[in-house]
Amino acid sequence: MTRAVLSIGSNLGDRLGHLQSVVDGLGVAVRAVSPVYETDAWGGVEQGPFLNAVVLADDPGLSPAGWLRRCQDLETAAGRVREIHWGPRTLDVDIVACRDGLEQVRSSDPELTLPHPYAHLRAFVLIPWLAVDPAARLWVTGLDRPVTELLAELDARERDGVRPTDLVLSN
Ligand code: ADP
Ligand code: MG
Repeated sequence: MTRAVLSIGSNLGDRLGHLQSVVDGLGVAVRAVSPVYETDAWGGVEQGPFLNAVVLADDPGLSPAGWLRRCQDLETAAGRVREIHWGPRTLDVDIVACRDGLEQVRSSDPELTLPHPYAHLRAFVLIPWLAVDPAARLWVTGLDRPVTELLAELDARERDGVRPTDLVLSN
C-alpha cells in the first residue's frame, strides 16, 4: 500500500474547478481532502493568488513514479502549460511525501524528490496537511519531524498569509 500526500494549487481560470478535478480524477484512492485556503503567490512573478489544498490518497499498487505520472496527467487534463517557472498555472500537483507501508520514501532524484524539498518551508502545504492529519510527520534534513513543529518554526507572516476560505471540495 502506498500513500501520497499531495499539495494542489491553482491561480488561473476556474481555480476551485481545477482543484476539484484532482479529487474527481483520483476517485476511490482519495482518503481525505483538506479545506481550501487562499495564498498570495511568491517567487517574484506578478500573478493572482492561489487556492491551495492537500489531498491524502492511497493506492495498493502505485509506485512513487506512478504517483508522479498521475499528478502530471491531472495537470495536463487541467490544461496546464509550462511557461514561466513559478508563474501562474491552472493546476500544480506536487507530491509532498509518499509512504510505502510504514516507510517514508526518500529520494534525491530531481525528477522526483521525496519528501518535496520545499514542503517544510511552505505554510500553504503544512496548514492544509495538518487540517486533515494533525499527527503528520515529515523527514527534513535526516530527521523525522512533527509537522506542527515545522509550522511553528516558520515566519508568522508566512503562516498568516494562508487564509481560510468558505470554498469546499466535495469527495
Ligand atoms: P514547481 O511545482 O516547483 O512549481 P513544476 O510543477 O513545474 O514546478 O515541477 C517541476 C518538476 O519538478 C517536475 O517536472 C517534476 O519532475 C519535478 N519534481 C521533483 N520532485 C517532485 C515532487 N515531489 N512532486 C512533484 N514534482 C516533483
Ligand atoms: Mg509542481
